[in-house]
Order: sequence, then C-alpha cells, then structure tokens
Amino acid sequence: MTTAAAKRPQLAHLTAQLDDLRERGTFFKLRVLDDQQAPVCTYDGKRVINLASNNYLGLCNHPKLEEAAIAATKKYGVGSGAVRTIAGTMHIHMELEEKIAAFKGVEACVVFQSGFAANAGTVSSILGKEDFILSDELNHASIIDGARLSKAKIKVFRHKDIAHAEQLLQEVQNEPGRKLLITDGVFSMDGDIGPVDKLADLCEKYGAIMMVDDAHASGVLGRNGRGSVDHFHATDKVDVQVGTLSKAIGALGGYVCGSRDLIDYLYHRARPFLFSTSHPPSVAATCIAAFDILENEPDRIQRLWDNTAYFKQQLTDAGFDVGGNTTPKSETPITPIIIGDGRRTMDFSRALFDAGVMATGIAFPTVPEGKARIRTIMTSEHTREQIDQALETFRSVARKTGLLQS
Ligand SMILES: *Cc1c(COP(=O)(O)O)cnc(C)c1O
Repeated sequence: MTTAAAKRPQLAHLTAQLDDLRERGTFFKLRVLDDQQAPVCTYDGKRVINLASNNYLGLCNHPKLEEAAIAATKKYGVGSGAVRTIAGTMHIHMELEEKIAAFKGVEACVVFQSGFAANAGTVSSILGKEDFILSDELNHASIIDGARLSKAKIKVFRHKDIAHAEQLLQEVQNEPGRKLLITDGVFSMDGDIGPVDKLADLCEKYGAIMMVDDAHASGVLGRNGRGSVDHFHATDKVDVQVGTLSKAIGALGGYVCGSRDLIDYLYHRARPFLFSTSHPPSVAATCIAAFDILENEPDRIQRLWDNTAYFKQQLTDAGFDVGGNTTPKSETPITPIIIGDGRRTMDFSRALFDAGVMATGIAFPTVPEGKARIRTIMTSEHTREQIDQALETFRSVARKTGLLQS
C-alpha cells in the first residue's frame, strides 16, 4: 500500500487500480500544451510535430474565429447565466442552431455543451425501458452511456456487420418497443467509415429509428464537411444526426440535427439541455464563424485529404501496419499504427515524443487487448516538410525499437 492509501484508506481501491496501470506500463501523465494547438507546438517544454489533435482544419486558432469570439465577449459578456430553458438562451445560440440546420439541410438543430452531452442526452431521452438499441460494437462511449441511461435493451452488432445488424433487428421486430440503430459516421480509433447508407436502408426496412454520430466526420467528410450522412446522400433516411463542434469546428459543443419535432422534444426532455448551462456567447460566435469557413474555404478540406493520402501512403511504404489486417482499415485522416502490446505502444509513443513527434499511444481498455496502437491525426495545416520530418522520426524510432527491420 502506498503512503497516501495508508493515511486515508477510503479510496485505497483507486490507488490499487492505479498501481495496476503502472505495473502494465499504461499509466500516463497529462501532457501540457505550452502554446497554441498547432501542427508544431510545445508540450511540457518540448517542441514537437503534433499528430495528436482533432484540429483537422486548423480552426482552433483561425483569426476569424478569434475575432468572432472576442467581439461576442465584448458585446454579450463571458457567460450566458443560466440553462437554455430558464434564462440562458441568447440570440446567438438560436443563430448557431439555425445556421447548422441550414448547412446540414434539415428542419432543425439543437446545440449541446459537448458532443458527449449531445449523444448521451439524446439517446437517453428518446427511448425508454421497453425499447431496443442496436449499436455497433465500436461506437463511442457517449453513445454507450446514453444507451445505459435510457434503460432500453442494448443489442450490439459486430463492427460494420450489416447482416448481423439485420439479424438483431429480426430478433426484436415483433417486440412492442421502438428500435433505434446507431453507428458512428467515422470510428474514432480506427478511422474507418460506418456503412451509413446500408444501415439506413435496414432501418427503412424494419421501421427503426436511424441515428449517426458524426463527431469525426463533421468538417471532414461530405460536401464542405457536411458529414458522413451527406457523403452517403442519406439525409432523408437518417432521423438523428449528431455532430461535434469540438473537433474540426475548433471550439466546443455538440449538436443534434433532425426534424422540428425531434428538436422540440429534446428542448423539453434532454437532461444536459435542461440541467446544464448553455455555452458562453463567445463559443456560439466562434462556431458560427467556423461554419462560414467551411462554406467559403473548402480548400482546407482538400488540403486535409491530400495530406492524409500522402501520410498514409508513406507509412504503408515504410512497412507500418496502418490497420486493415487485424483491425478495420482507416479511410480518413485518423491513421492508427498498430503495435499490439500496450506497454510497447506506450514506450514507442514516449520515444516518438523524445524524438520530436507527438502521437498518442492508445491501449486497453480504449481499444481491445492486443490491438494497442499509436493513433495519428493529420490536419490541413501540416506542411509537407513537417509531414516528411514526422515520417523520418517514425522510421528511425521504429528501427531503434525493433518495430521495423533494417
Ligand atoms: C469526440 C467524440 C464525441 C464527443 O465529442 P465532444 O464534443 O468532444 O464531447 C462523440 N462521439 C465520437 C465518435 C467522438 O469521437
């Protein structure tokens, strides 16, 4: 027992679990960013090429977004002062929701404090204990938590397995409850794209509600970054589209798009909407400016995909396992480098950092045991020189640690 646990035994079980993580080599300390979120930045005093952020389009510090945030703060202050349903709905909150709904080509939109809150708040409020949730096994934690909170019965289908999803729908089709099928648009650990169109067709066939979580597809996939549902031309078949404002959009928040009734219902029933304060006006203003950029600067998205294609090809040519053998194959700017063993992965990530590249090691329980990986995310703002330098670092660290021969 450590001294802390001996002094105050009430939380000793936590200490024991942390000791276990240390034992496995997967305990981590938070890396602290000294400057701005950027392709090259400084963590813990070390200058690194950053392949770890979700800042896909470099919007975290786009001058127009900064200006919008400052102007809104000067005009409306720093806080909204209440939850949306009491006194905390400002014009700028409504403007953002209208902007997103128009962008996505749907009737209405509600913005939550985060993507996590959007998923958990929506799934838990639109279903009850008589209902069924069919969920891809690799769906995000916020969907899983929302499903548990709803008390609906949860059926998990194998990753992207349409036949298995159909089998589960058949099993419950004569049950009285409603059925909701959920998939991520882009899976966050493997970077593969969910079969949104095929799953939406299944939902049509069985009368199920179709929901897509587009956190990693917002600003990345579809026309001007409208997401995976747009990418698959499935807007009319998807009842609930979730997106995030925290990744490519560069700020913070989550949203749900759908029919006017869905959104009005969430205004009345979604618990994070009812019981947690709305965004500061600066955040809403930032996001409005970000959607203007998506509409007016599509070249950013093109650069993101060009960089992604180049980086993936170079990693593959160097002999890295970038997924597709034992794991799903990445099709997006998220590229995992599969290593397998958790400790070895964490050691590799640390060695990369020491050599000037920030790329997160991800191990069990975030990914399955034996599928630990370095997860990289490309952005539109990385230059070719930065990408080449990162690749050279990957190769040399891999040779030194025996991950790659020669
Ligand atoms: C990041 C993420 C979320 C949560 O979004 P936040 O806005 O960061 O809370 C939800 N779903 C998926 C698939 C994600 O990757």
